[in-house]
Amino acid sequence: MRIYFDHNATTPVDPAVADALTRVMTEEFGNASSVHHFGQRAKAVIDEARSAIAALIGGEPSEIVFTSGGTESDNFALRGVADALEPTGRKHLIASSIEHEAVLVTLRALARRGWKVTLLPVDATGIVKPESLSQAITPDTAVVSVMHANNEIGTIQPIAELAAIAHAHGALLHTDAVQSIGKISVDVRALGVDLLSLSAHKFNGPKGIGALWIKRGARVTSILTGGKHERSRRAGTENVPGIAGLGVAARLAARKLTTEAPRTAALRDRLESAILARVTGTAVNGAREPRVPNTTNISFDAIEAESLLIALDLEGVAVSTGSACSSGTLEPSHVLRAMGLPSPRAQNSIRFSLGAGNTDAEVDFVVSKLPAIVDKLRSLTRTKVRA
Ligand code: PLP
Repeated sequence: MRIYFDHNATTPVDPAVADALTRVMTEEFGNASSVHHFGQRAKAVIDEARSAIAALIGGEPSEIVFTSGGTESDNFALRGVADALEPTGRKHLIASSIEHEAVLVTLRALARRGWKVTLLPVDATGIVKPESLSQAITPDTAVVSVMHANNEIGTIQPIAELAAIAHAHGALLHTDAVQSIGKISVDVRALGVDLLSLSAHKFNGPKGIGALWIKRGARVTSILTGGKHERSRRAGTENVPGIAGLGVAARLAARKLTTEAPRTAALRDRLESAILARVTGTAVNGAREPRVPNTTNISFDAIEAESLLIALDLEGVAVSTGSACSSGTLEPSHVLRAMGLPSPRAQNSIRFSLGAGNTDAEVDFVVSKLPAIVDKLRSLTRTKVRA
């Protein structure tokens, strides 16, 4: 039996998405910039997907720019605003300290170019306090970037409040919604944001395709230059099959959200409470609410997360030690460290992220295996310490 509890790393492609990809790849091979029949058919595929994404997030189709995924969307938002606003003298960027590397490393690159960067703290809840933004923001702030939901602990940030503060100071608000799209309802107008990143492979779409929603009128310079694709905002022949797959994934996400979110939340809560009850020395990291319905991050006292991950994998269960990019290293998670968790606890935490297709039986299987695995690993640790 193979159980996949790592949906925040990536999700399986929905069969309807795979069908759309295959059909478009073979039948709609035209270049969407071509004037002839083949080009116009490819363009129609892109237009349809653009409408699907716009409908999912409450934006206008013309505000969607297709990208190669969440990383590019984050780069585009931050570098694009920095390039556009540098001449105005605004040279300050703010982000939360628990952003994905796609944001944090991009900010470091901009800091090397002379931008001032402020990272907002979080406490043990893993939620940014709006007051901390009020204190950090200045007339020089160009953009504030705070993720909608955190990839490691699932906490949801107060984006609407943060956007109001940013706007009161003339700054834009970018949110990385890569981990919230498809899990909770996301509406760009209700959130009041100016830029929003999303990535298809986190909600049963294909890898290597995503989008940046740019509010009409927001000043963002393109970072990929060349042809006039995407209204001159992102050059390069469009990935038509990927875009079609993203569109189908968006339509499915919109349709399934009201049933999938409570179903996943019930599974996650069943898993979480059973682990806390049956495995000693466990605790949930971060606030339990507000949190996306599929994620729980649990620390296991006196255990190395990597050993637990490997032991679970041997039982056929896939989990993660935090963000996928940092697994394979024993670096404690920057998210858990920013929350002030002591180093051992930041190093003994496991993320379980559920999704479509997971069942009660799978949760019960994992819960039945965990106590013995944890006991065994703890006894090995004790032996190592004594030796
Ligand atoms: N932002 C967040 C919050 C993520 O979780 C991820 C993926 O792990 C990304 C950005 C990067 O997205 P992509 O894998 O599409 O580049």
